[in-house]
Amino acid sequence: MRIDLHTHSTASDGTQSPAALVLEAAHLRPRLDVLGLTDHDTTSGWDEAEAAACEHGVTLVRGVEISCEREGHSIHLLGYLIDPTFEPLIAELALARESRVTRLERMVELLVADGIPISYAAVLAHVPPGATPGRPHLADALVTTGLVPNRDEAFARWLYNDSPYYVAHYAPDPARAVELVLMAGGVPVIAHPYAVRKGLVPVPGLIEELAALGLAGVEVDHPDHSAEARRELRSLTAALGLFATGSSDYHGAGKRNWLAEETTAREVFEEIAHLGTGVGVVRP
Ligand code: AMP
Ligand code: FE
Ligand code: FE
Ligand code: ZN
Repeated sequence: MRIDLHTHSTASDGTQSPAALVLEAAHLRPRLDVLGLTDHDTTSGWDEAEAAACEHGVTLVRGVEISCEREGHSIHLLGYLIDPTFEPLIAELALARESRVTRLERMVELLVADGIPISYAAVLAHVPPGATPGRPHLADALVTTGLVPNRDEAFARWLYNDSPYYVAHYAPDPARAVELVLMAGGVPVIAHPYAVRKGLVPVPGLIEELAALGLAGVEVDHPDHSAEARRELRSLTAALGLFATGSSDYHGAGKRNWLAEETTAREVFEEIAHLGTGVGVVRP
């Protein structure tokens, strides 16, 4: 049974529609049995994914990837099976999405001031209707303007986290996000703790702190994690009684990785399904 619990669609910065993503899962060989849809700061892809999952016989775990921030550093929290109508969480996600707009406008201004010919209108042309706007859409605009060949190159040259063109957006503290996910009946799992620059927020301390608040799991296997990072996270999760997930963080053609590149154990998936009460797993 193959299970991939972290993917993105055109509801945020993935390049495939939710239905196309589900179809790809169904057509993978060996097939992907369980797909988690976790777009950045939105649940707007859920309905389309659910319909496609029923049609193609793919088990669907509906989730969200919440952008959080602590001391200026970005931390991502996965919230599985949350109630998408839980008002405090909806409000927090809406705030983050709105501030992502002003933040991208500011990044465009900084690029323009340095002679890089780009416009916010060009960025908007790459944001699908209703999608959470992000740096990858700005990268797409830089690609179509002919300034770089692909998203990766746009990130390497201008959009990386320490770049002088980087602007932060509003994001809740991870402790608050864990609390909101739990109140929404969801299962909080910290995403790729070591995919961000190492050593900034002390990761073991953060995971311990969040575990005390009810964090359920850690994304241990992730394409951006070294073998050493995985070893450390695996022993930490075991010591804290958390479960370990593995996921591709697939973004379609937007990043050099593939669906089901990393996978989660069946028992862990069943535990998530059991713990989540906000919505159920879609089992066609
Ligand atoms: P944002 O949330 O707007 O700050 O953008 C962060 C997102 O950019 C991440 O979730 C990734 O999807 C994407 N990203 C980060 N680095 C790269 C890269 N090198 N190439 C393509 N996409 C990237
Ligand atoms: Fe992303
Ligand atoms: Fe992430
Ligand atoms: Zn992600």
